[in-house]
Amino acid sequence: MPADENKAAFPLSALVGQQALKRALLIAAANPSIGSALVRGTRDAGKRTAIRGLSSILPNIKAHRGCPVRCPPGPYKPCPICSEAEKLETVNAPAPLVDISITSDMGQLAGRRVDNEPFAGLLGRANQGYAVLDRINLFSEKTLRHIFEVQEKGVVESDGDMWPAKFVILATMNDEEGELSASLVERFALCVRVSALTDIEERLEVIKRVESYRLDPERFRSHYEREEGEMRARVAEARRLMPRAELSAAMQKEMERRCSGLRGLKDSAVLRMSQAVLGNAALNGRIWGTSEDVRDVSSFVLGHLKG
Ligand SMILES: [Zn+2]
Repeated sequence: MPADENKAAFPLSALVGQQALKRALLIAAANPSIGSALVRGTRDAGKRTAIRGLSSILPNIKAHRGCPVRCPPGPYKPCPICSEAEKLETVNAPAPLVDISITSDMGQLAGRRVDNEPFAGLLGRANQGYAVLDRINLFSEKTLRHIFEVQEKGVVESDGDMWPAKFVILATMNDEEGELSASLVERFALCVRVSALTDIEERLEVIKRVESYRLDPERFRSHYEREEGEMRARVAEARRLMPRAELSAAMQKEMERRCSGLRGLKDSAVLRMSQAVLGNAALNGRIWGTSEDVRDVSSFVLGHLKG
């Protein structure tokens, strides 16, 4: 996504209502180990706007200067460009939020060689950040399975080059535009259902804010800078707490009970719930999960699983 669009995104804190949507996205922002989140529902519910709004909330990441896939410093195998670099300097960089479109072909996704020079694809460019799939039910199943496979491996190969590709998948889906196979829906760690607002006061407020944003995005953003700053600080603090966050044996048992009806999907549901609970706890300034966290995230983790 162009940096300009990033800069002028509609603030997440200015989104009227949609508390569940905001909570699910903040969990994915606080704990990228969650892996994926699907936002589905009716048109005009602010799904894509909310995801775009993450761009000004996400903490910066550490990456090699000038690297297209933001290779992190450390004992990892770097991308073909960093491998050839004479000197590697680490800088703070914005976390990427990369749009994957229905028309992105395999070469655009994985990367390619141009005049024998390695050229990173979209999945590599989402490394250390988020791959955004808007209207996922219009994508080909083959492309979606490829994206999930790359995410599982954490690397993407193209023309003999290996690029790091550790990213969170954030997808939207308008239910009226068609189905997504149950096996793909179940691959998402979190799923949140949203619908357009029905309260007349809230709808009027949305119209007012959207119009005000359209007329002067920068001015509108500056109006919400305090709320945005608070959200940014909350996510940054949650990321700082995450490495120390843990769950007690009693919490583990409680989650297993919650997921017990899922048969084959139970183990992965418990793992996903653990990550969601830890992310939710960290957002609340804690390094331990509680029953309240389990209640907060249960519908995101279990609502889309049939078992
Ligand atoms: Zn690199």
